[in-house]
Amino acid sequence: MARIVITGGAGFIGSHLTDELLGKGHEVVVVDNLHTGRKKNFVAHLGNPRFEFIRHDVIEPILIEADEVYHMACPASPVHYQSNPVKTVKTNVMGTINMLGLCKRVGAKFLVASTSEVYGDPLEHPQKESYWGNVNPIGPRSCYDEGKRVAETLTENYRLQNGVNTRIVRIFNTYGPRMLFNDGRVVSNFIVQALRGEDITVYGEGSQTRSFCFVSDLTAGIIATMNKVDFHGPVNLGNPNEMTINELAKLIIELTGSCSRIRFERLPKDDPTRRKPDISLAQRELGWKPTVDVKKGLMDTIKDFERRISDGEK
Ligand code: NAD
Ligand code: UDP
Repeated sequence: MARIVITGGAGFIGSHLTDELLGKGHEVVVVDNLHTGRKKNFVAHLGNPRFEFIRHDVIEPILIEADEVYHMACPASPVHYQSNPVKTVKTNVMGTINMLGLCKRVGAKFLVASTSEVYGDPLEHPQKESYWGNVNPIGPRSCYDEGKRVAETLTENYRLQNGVNTRIVRIFNTYGPRMLFNDGRVVSNFIVQALRGEDITVYGEGSQTRSFCFVSDLTAGIIATMNKVDFHGPVNLGNPNEMTINELAKLIIELTGSCSRIRFERLPKDDPTRRKPDISLAQRELGWKPTVDVKKGLMDTIKDFERRISDGEK
């Protein structure tokens, strides 16, 4: 049994990680400021003596015993990370320094949730870990993209300079149950719109692509990365099943049986035109690849959203 700290553990991916790691018999301490996370995501664990929640902002230092730290804290949706860009940079820079400093002091292993956004609007397709990216350093996405790039830099340098045992995972677009209705990301927006019979808001012409990974596949990859000995990454974790945003909209309309129509809206500035992970490194080093078909994953997500809507969640 390991003592595991999960920053951002009240959020979408972090709460699924919490479930998985508690299920494996570990002790889990969730450290979260509840910015985009919710107590509802861990309320089922409150009576479990192996579970603890600390309301804390990672831009402040924290002293806590741990064997492993999964550093997931950071708003992931463009709507949320752009609402306070300076705070997003602080979360990525100061938050990552604080958690790496903690790992240095207590000798814990450290894994940082980086992102496919480090590749920016990629000029190489699909994206391999060796690609350095095409990021606008002052654009609307830069607080997140550059924040995560510095988080990677810090992680690599705490490893080389201070001997912290680190891992970097580059997560590609992930979806699943528990995404917030107002999260602002494409899968949650389209499902909520389809279930409410509202117009589906496709930005731009909808020809831009993304590759969507179901959350249980992702958490399996994250845990495999933490557990792999003598491996530091960065490693891409995502589903190479690439589709256009128009295809996603049509698929969600079909799966929900919705009467919603597609409405085209302005494409946000610097929106990447395409994105698809090359996951050969993860396959080779971790023996990992996604297994959940997009239709099955979307149906599970739609059922979760339907249940929450009928429970009165707004
Ligand atoms: P999320 O917004 O649902 O969860 C983020 C969590 O971090 C929330 O619980 C939030 O309250 C917490 N948080 C934010 N700032 C904090 C701070 N300063 N101090 C403490 N807690 C803070 O997002 P998610 O989709 O679960 O993403 C989790 C991680 O994975 C993020 O680091 C994100 O950048 C990364 N990631 C996610 C995706 C994706 O598709 N979901 C893709 C790439 C990378
Ligand atoms: N998008 C869209 N309609 C929406 C939300 C997003 O067409 O209601 C598009 C967005 O412009 C982008 C893609 O869907 O091209 C994925 O957006 P998301 O915010 O989910 O993730 P990211 O851009 O960070 O990959």
